[in-house]
Amino acid sequence: MATLLSGAPVAQALSQEIEQNCSVLRAHGITPTFGIVRVGARPDDLAYERGVSKRAEKLGVSIRTFTLPEDVSEEQLISTLEQINEDDTIHGCLLFRPLPPSLDAQKISRVLSPKKDVDAITTASMGGLLTNVQVGFAPCTATACLKLLHYYQIPLQGKRIVVVGKSVTVGLPTALLMMNEDATVSVCHILTQPEDTRAMCRNADIIISAAGCANLIRADYVHPGQVVVDVGINVGPDGKMCGDVAFSEVEPIVGAITPVPGGVGAVTSTVLIGHTVEAAMRTLSEQS
Ligand code: NAD
Repeated sequence: MATLLSGAPVAQALSQEIEQNCSVLRAHGITPTFGIVRVGARPDDLAYERGVSKRAEKLGVSIRTFTLPEDVSEEQLISTLEQINEDDTIHGCLLFRPLPPSLDAQKISRVLSPKKDVDAITTASMGGLLTNVQVGFAPCTATACLKLLHYYQIPLQGKRIVVVGKSVTVGLPTALLMMNEDATVSVCHILTQPEDTRAMCRNADIIISAAGCANLIRADYVHPGQVVVDVGINVGPDGKMCGDVAFSEVEPIVGAITPVPGGVGAVTSTVLIGHTVEAAMRTLSEQS
């Protein structure tokens, strides 16, 4: 039976660090503040916003929401982001994406200051990740995977890690973060030959799956002792939430595995708030 790598204790440990940093900031008269920019009212954005706001409030982080209409002009959205850049009382900012197709997402994502870019939407933040230099922050989901592996003291240096999925938001930054930990990283994607994905997974010490494909990682992809991190959030054939891993097949074989729900997803929003507080801490150290 595998060790269950639950996200809750990881989020709890991160929350303690966040609360300590919040106390330091409050002692300096700073209320860490998180800006949320939402265009339109997509139900999943609203649900995420509610979850993040609740968590932020619990940890002592203020929220400022900037709600813009679905037909907002590029100029209006850019001006909102510029306003946030110039406002010293806002430390971190999340811009919900995807943006409506009428807006140039690339152009808009370049506007936000990397210092406030707590989910790495800017090219500058991604450049920092690529060069392993602190510019902004790494994307939250990738960071959540790393925090989870660190929390459970899973060694990464020199380990063979396969990341399944190479999206700019999840797979690619996760692979880069693991490389920055001196792991030996391979990346599979939709055009990797399925037999290669299977063989590479079977040969890995750690599998991180972020494909968005239910039941992708099956019993013949794994071997005893492996660590499996399931980032996927899918709706299974039974209508229930599931990851990329066929949990009931894989769990009896491997050494450790994250559940879905309750694994990486339980850590991500705490990382987002943590980045905002860290951004506020950085401004404090710049002042002293
Ligand atoms: P995406 O669709 O942008 O990218 C999916 C990637 O997986 C692509 O690179 C694609 O090539 C690859 N892929 C798809 N099917 C594959 C297959 N059969 N074999 C190998 N590779 C395959 O998705 P994303 O935004 O990167 O998200 C990935 C998953 O992670 C989704 O299920 C998403 O809901 C989930 N997610 C979870 C969290 C979290 O906090 N747990 C956060 C963000 C996204």
